Order: sequence, then structure tokens, then C-alpha cells
Amino acid sequence: MKIFAIPMTSFTSTPLEDIPEIRDALLKGFGSGKTKSIKYRKEQLLQLAYLLKDNHQRFLDALAKDLGRPALETDFTEMTATLGDIYDSYNNVGKWAKDEKAPFSVLWYFMNPTVRKEPKGVVLIIGPFNFPILCLLMPLACALAAGNTVLLKPSELSTAVSDLVAELVPKYFEPGLVRVVQGGIPQTSKLIEYPWGHICYTGSPRVARIIAHAAANTLTPVTFELGGKNPTIVDAKGDLKLAARRILWGRNVNAGQACTAPEYVLVMRSVEEEFIKELQNTYATYYENDPSGSKSFSRIITQEHASRIAHLLSETKGKIVAGGEVDTENKYIAPTIVRDVPPDDSLMSEEIFGPVLSIIPVDNIDEAIAFAHARDKPLAVYIFTSDKKVKEKVIENTSSGAVFVNDVLIHPGATGLPFGGIGLSGYGCMTGKWGFNTFTHFRALLDSPGYLDTLALWPRFPPYTDEKYHKIRSLSAFKLPPRPGNAEAPRRKWGLYALFAMFGAVVAVLGRKVGSVFGSTQE
Ligand code: NAD
Repeated sequence: MKIFAIPMTSFTSTPLEDIPEIRDALLKGFGSGKTKSIKYRKEQLLQLAYLLKDNHQRFLDALAKDLGRPALETDFTEMTATLGDIYDSYNNVGKWAKDEKAPFSVLWYFMNPTVRKEPKGVVLIIGPFNFPILCLLMPLACALAAGNTVLLKPSELSTAVSDLVAELVPKYFEPGLVRVVQGGIPQTSKLIEYPWGHICYTGSPRVARIIAHAAANTLTPVTFELGGKNPTIVDAKGDLKLAARRILWGRNVNAGQACTAPEYVLVMRSVEEEFIKELQNTYATYYENDPSGSKSFSRIITQEHASRIAHLLSETKGKIVAGGEVDTENKYIAPTIVRDVPPDDSLMSEEIFGPVLSIIPVDNIDEAIAFAHARDKPLAVYIFTSDKKVKEKVIENTSSGAVFVNDVLIHPGATGLPFGGIGLSGYGCMTGKWGFNTFTHFRALLDSPGYLDTLALWPRFPPYTDEKYHKIRSLSAFKLPPRPGNAEAPRRKWGLYALFAMFGAVVAVLGRKVGSVFGSTQE
């Protein structure tokens, strides 16, 4: 059996006593106000893009060292998505950061209500080991686009990438803009003692609870990008060949250490045999029945993680129909397919985070939906079908961070879509404009002209009288539709409403014009 040796690198943790100074430099950097300029933000986004491009091969090598990962997978799953996101931010940050007018309201129009987008300050990004570019540098792009200064804490398990990021960041960014703290629990524990503009944490729900407790003490807002078990439904009307091809690939990318991997398949009993045959045939073409010697398959991050997966596999009551070989010393778990996995099986007890695909037969779509629905909300629900009604039924009756029809895993790279979880798979969003919003404070801005007191707001001032009270009450005299359950059908007077709206708009515009003649600030 051929095994890739994965050499260790010279990982050095940041001394705890350096952390206050690093944070102070970032506070100072933010305090300089430099990051507010869109030109500066765009320059930093370009720097990040060049950091990745100039050192492309070094990132591939680092991931090969940490995870034995094939270059193609790193390019397809991390590089393309991260560079695409940086490109999107670079092109659109000017538009995203612009002030936004509030929707028209006769009551507030004269105060010019506006949303100003401001950076939150110094933000902390804590990354996992499995996709260190995507989960560390993509949030970095979002945070820079939003005008923040940033502290990055890469995972101590992906040591080669952590070392590389720590080496490159000072070469591409000013010391007051982006800094790296390397290390594990002691460093993270120290970092989360401080208040931050925002914490973006990607990792397990177990550690997320620790971060949430610490963030509660400092009232720091948090985004959690977590994991879970993503159900994959294979309908009888699905293309079984396509499903087998994509699911087997998605389960085994990065040796199954992917938060969006399809974890278990709920297959209609009527096509179970055929589907398993398709999986076995595909397996043979992907790995020529020897994944241990394949250049298309990664390794588990540590021996401990490999042992955990091996233990889950050894306890299964399901039947292994492909793979099953384990070599924990060399961090190798073969891509494995287990059929007839009972709902209370060891393989269903936790997120496997390894290359083990469980197959669970169900009688119909309703049973598949009920199975998925009874469990924690996942990052993704996958459905393979050509039946529009089945597709809609699954979307309508399940809940997850995303739904992907007839494909798996790659949606975090979809430009323009939010990426995030719900419930135990996390909360808040990363990627593009959604990530920009995560790291942005939406500040309400109003400017109340003095003439408004003469025109409309005079009744608010003491001494309060009945007349003033009636005027104030009239401000909340909104015409509501009939009470829910009232048999009387709502009478629609669209013509009249349109006339009122037009009249309101004309009065408002004229009012503002008149107001501007008398000056726009408080008297
Ligand atoms: P992890 O939770 O073990 O570690 C993540 C980070 O937390 C690391 O930087 C680590 O140093 C830190 N950490 C670990 N223990 C800590 C403690 N006790 N106190 C403070 N900090 C601590 O996660 P992992 O094993 O690196 O990553 C795997 C998990 O991440 C899986 O659950 C996976 O689904 C999830 N994940 C989610 C996404 C997403 O975008 N939703 C992406 C990748 C991974």
C-alpha cells in the first residue's frame, strides 16, 4: 500500500505576551481613519489577491503538506472561490459602501433619513484546519472591503498554511491593518478575552459555544460558520449516474473534511440497489480500487482525527460495500460506502468529517423529509431529482443554510449568494456583499431642519395641551387592513391610495424645497 508521507513543519505559536501589543497596533491602525477610504480598501483587496496569486504554488504545497491534498482540489474548492470573492468585492465595494436612502415616508422624509455604512473596527477571524484559505482569507476580504483592521488566527492543525499566512501577511499588508496570531487553545482563549468589532469563527459547534460565552462577556457580535450532517436525498426520479458521480466526489474531496460534504444519503428503496451499483462503478473509476495510492485523495489532518473516524466506522451496524481500509498511523481512511445504516448508528452520532458515506434507504420522499427534519439544521440539503414537485416539496419542508439541487459542496463559491448556516450549523453570512454587511455597522443618519417645528413637530413641546395631544395621536393614525379572521373582504381603493401617495410626494418635495430656502439645520 502506497502512503504519502506528510512531513511536519516548523510551527511556532505567538507568545501570549505579544497579543496586547498586536491588538493595540490594529486599534491604532483603525483609529488612523485610513481604512475608511474606498480607494485604500480596493488597494488592500488587490494586495490580498496578489498574495494568493504570487504564492499560488506555495499554498498548494502547504495544503499538500498539511492534508496531502491534490492541487486540483485546492484550486477548485479554495483558490477559485476566494479569488472570485475578492474580485467581486473589489468591483463592488464602492457601490456597497454608498449611503442608502431610507424608503419614502411622509413622516420622516424631511429629515433625509439615510443609512451610513461604517466599519466595525478591529475584527477577529478564527479559522479551521480543513479549508484554511476559504475560511480565513475569504472573511479577510469581506472585512477589508468593509474597512476594518483584522487579526487572523489560523488553525494550529494546518501548520504549513498557518506558517505561510504568518510569513506573507506582513509582506503584503501594513502592520496596523492585518496581523496574524498563530497558536491553539491558549492563544484563542487570550484573544477572546478582549472586545472586538466582530468575531468571525469557523469551526465546530463545541468550540463555538466557548467563543459565544466569551463574546457574551465583552458583548462582541459573532458570526458562526459551523458544521453538521448534510442530508442528501436521492429520488427515484433522479439521474442515478449523475448523483453517484457527484455525491461520491463531494463526500471524498479533502478526504471528507468539508463542512458542505454530503454526509448521508436518503435513497428511495426502489432504486437503492441500482444507486449503490452506480456508486461502486464510479468508485472504481475514481480511485482504480486503490485510493491509498491515488494522487486524487487526501489524508486526515491528524492521527487523533483518523482514530476517531476509524472508531465510528468500527462500530457501525451498516454493511461496508466499498473501502473500509484504515491506517491511522498514516492518517489514512479509505473512501468508504456503508449501506443500510440504521438511524441510531455510530455513523449518525456526530459529524464524521471523513470519507465515509452512509446510505439510508427510505420508502418515499415524505420519509426522507421527516428524517432530515427531525435532526439539527445542516449547512446544506441536497436533492437529486428531475421532478419539480419533489424538488419544491423538499425545499418547502426542510431548513438549512442552503439547498442545492442535483449537485453538492461547491455552492460557497457562488458569487452573489450568502453562505452561512442556521441553528447548529451556525449563524450570520460570509461571502461578497453578505460578508461586507457582516463586518459593517449600519448607522442611522438623520438631519432635522428647524422649520419642521413650525410645520409639523411643534405639538411635541411642553406645555402639553389637548390640541397638541390630538395632533400627536394623528401621527399614528395608520389605516390598517381589516383584522385577521374578519369575514369582511378588504375593500381596495387603489385609485384613492395612489392619489394620496402622489399628493404626499408633491407636498414632501415642495416642503423640502421651501425648507432648503430657510436653511437645513436646526434653528
Ligand atoms: P475546531 O473547532 O476544532 O477549531 C477551530 C478553531 O478553534 C481553531 O483555530 C482552534 O485553534 C480553535 N479552538 C479549538 N479549540 C478551542 C478551545 N477550546 N478554545 C478556543 N479556541 C479553540 O474546528 P476544526 O476541527 O478546525 O474544523 C472542523 C469544523 O469546522 C467542522 O465542524 C466543520 O464542519 C467546521 N467548518 C465549517 C465551515 C463553514 O464555513 N461553515 C467551514 C469549514 C469547517
